[in-house]
Amino acid sequence: MLVNINVKCPRCGQTTTLAVSQGDRDGTSFSSTSCRVCRARFIALTQKDGSILLFDSATYEAGEEPARPLAIISPRTGRSGYHVKPPEYLGILDRGHPLEKPMGISDEDLETKISSLSRVLYRPDGSSRPPKEVAKHLGWRAVWSAQLAEAVRARLAAPPPLSFPPFIFISYRWGAQEDVAWVAALARDLKTRGYPVLFDREEPGEIDVPLMVSKIADARYFIAVIDPGYVERIGTGEETEPIKDGWVFDECNTAFDLERGRQLRVLGLLRSGDHLPSGFRLPLPGTPGNVIDVRPEQQLKLVLDDIFPLINDGPDPEIAERARLLLLKSHEFSIADKPHEAFQCAQELTDLLPGIIDGPAQKIRVALRATWTEPGLAAAQEALALAPDSAELHYVTGAFASIAGHPQQAAQYLGLYLEKDDPIGNQYLITAHQLLGSSLDDLDQPFAGLAHLKIARNKGGDNSDLLNNLGFVLRRVGQSEAAVDVFQVGLEGEPDNKNLLINYAAALIETGHHGAAFNAIGQLEVLYPGTPQISSLNDVLNEIEQQGSWGEPIALLDAPAEALGVVVECSACPAWIPMQEKDMLCARCGAVLSQAGPCQCCGWDGRVIWAPGITAICPYCRAGELNSTPTGGATTLSGQS
Ligand SMILES: [Zn+2]
Ligand SMILES: [Zn+2]
Ligand SMILES: [Zn+2]
Repeated sequence: MLVNINVKCPRCGQTTTLAVSQGDRDGTSFSSTSCRVCRARFIALTQKDGSILLFDSATYEAGEEPARPLAIISPRTGRSGYHVKPPEYLGILDRGHPLEKPMGISDEDLETKISSLSRVLYRPDGSSRPPKEVAKHLGWRAVWSAQLAEAVRARLAAPPPLSFPPFIFISYRWGAQEDVAWVAALARDLKTRGYPVLFDREEPGEIDVPLMVSKIADARYFIAVIDPGYVERIGTGEETEPIKDGWVFDECNTAFDLERGRQLRVLGLLRSGDHLPSGFRLPLPGTPGNVIDVRPEQQLKLVLDDIFPLINDGPDPEIAERARLLLLKSHEFSIADKPHEAFQCAQELTDLLPGIIDGPAQKIRVALRATWTEPGLAAAQEALALAPDSAELHYVTGAFASIAGHPQQAAQYLGLYLEKDDPIGNQYLITAHQLLGSSLDDLDQPFAGLAHLKIARNKGGDNSDLLNNLGFVLRRVGQSEAAVDVFQVGLEGEPDNKNLLINYAAALIETGHHGAAFNAIGQLEVLYPGTPQISSLNDVLNEIEQQGSWGEPIALLDAPAEALGVVVECSACPAWIPMQEKDMLCARCGAVLSQAGPCQCCGWDGRVIWAPGITAICPYCRAGELNSTPTGGATTLSGQS
């Protein structure tokens, strides 16, 4: 995704705006941009840590020698020189559902087999097994780890706690008194700044350690206080070294797991010593890290000022407590299948804490569980106004819009989600391609739609909905033979699926398999009598019989106008796009554009450009490169399989 930044132009020295890539988690990304004052053209390379290298466009493209950057723009940091990105994920899609019944194991398996720790606390019938019994076989260490995993699982089923002010978990090792005093001072400082902090020494009463450690699942920041003792407990990744027992090991594992799910930010504070435990690294130019060196005195205060500034506008404790109760009540109603009451509580939470995303986020969770598209879409837009860059919200807004029948809005947000290349999980990526594909077809872009639908299927999504969409668009572009195959695959999995049967019968008619079509319609009559499509399909068959064209292919849908000129294909995905020579592709959704101006599907004003020396990245899969081949005349649209 491109963003505008204000910089001093290295050519003319004036302050100007450049469009640069927002950066890619996996490597360097680039944009071709120009100064708005002197029109000098640059190539801007965005590195993983957000810093940007500006090159002269002509020298860079000539590529004869390694180009020297004209300027290096550092990522924005505070006085400490560090910038810590808050975790971006709100747990909208996978938190807020009933806790699934645990999978247990039998007594024999406990004795003889090594099984996943998460299962040892339960018997096959779901009842719990006394920890003592587990410890007899596996030791108490394993029991505690299993209890921690179970407590984390339970927390993750519920919605996350209020996101503001963000909750901080401090992980440290129990060392000498002065070490603990340092951590206690840190905890006090953070609390004074307005952040809820979990520091185990200050927890009241007897501590249930697994339960307490599981609170990492509800934290937004995990601060690891690194000193030589901490390193010993985690290890440095060298295999021979013994790892001392201790909870910090489990704490770190749990935190890194949650960070992979984007729910948490792990932040190491190097307090003393010269070694880092495995999983932790200091930032280097061009490469982000997750450790801040606070060994020099005064550095800690600068770091905390930048990353955890004083919160003046936090909700007062009484309101925060009411908000927590409303969130809890909403969740309880939702999992008891009382969506109206659940939505009402989430609305009250929204009204109580305006400007804080947790209310709208909970409304979205309730709407997702109840499959309410319009209220879900409205809540998603409310949340987007507060967090316009959230990939999770782009996905959920696009999905609601698609199902509610707003294909342009769906293309806008699903295109944005896919463009950001920030998948929350593979299944969301599959669904995003699928729904964008159907929306593009609704917007008269069947070939672009087909590309997305095929990508969805290649990513492992052979569900009946997807196959039905894919087969339908294949029919639309005159590839009914391929559609028949797709519907057959779908019907193997779900022989009674109504939509698949209807489309299958239609595709059989189109391909001249009229006897088979007659049978499929018969099946529909038995399973779904009174379905309106049955009589129209029968009418078509009767007409074919009367005209004496039984067994001959026939078109039932309007085929798209014949394209002239070129076919664009991708080196990595099944995109196959016939178009006019002067047409362009939308860089976000992949729609074919025949005129200047914003894309008529997704609204984005960016195009895939073909030019000598520039490789065009595929807007469908974003992995391959596009090639256009002149067809030397009319393209046979149905010629591709
Ligand atoms: Zn300039
Ligand atoms: Zn591609
Ligand atoms: Zn577009």
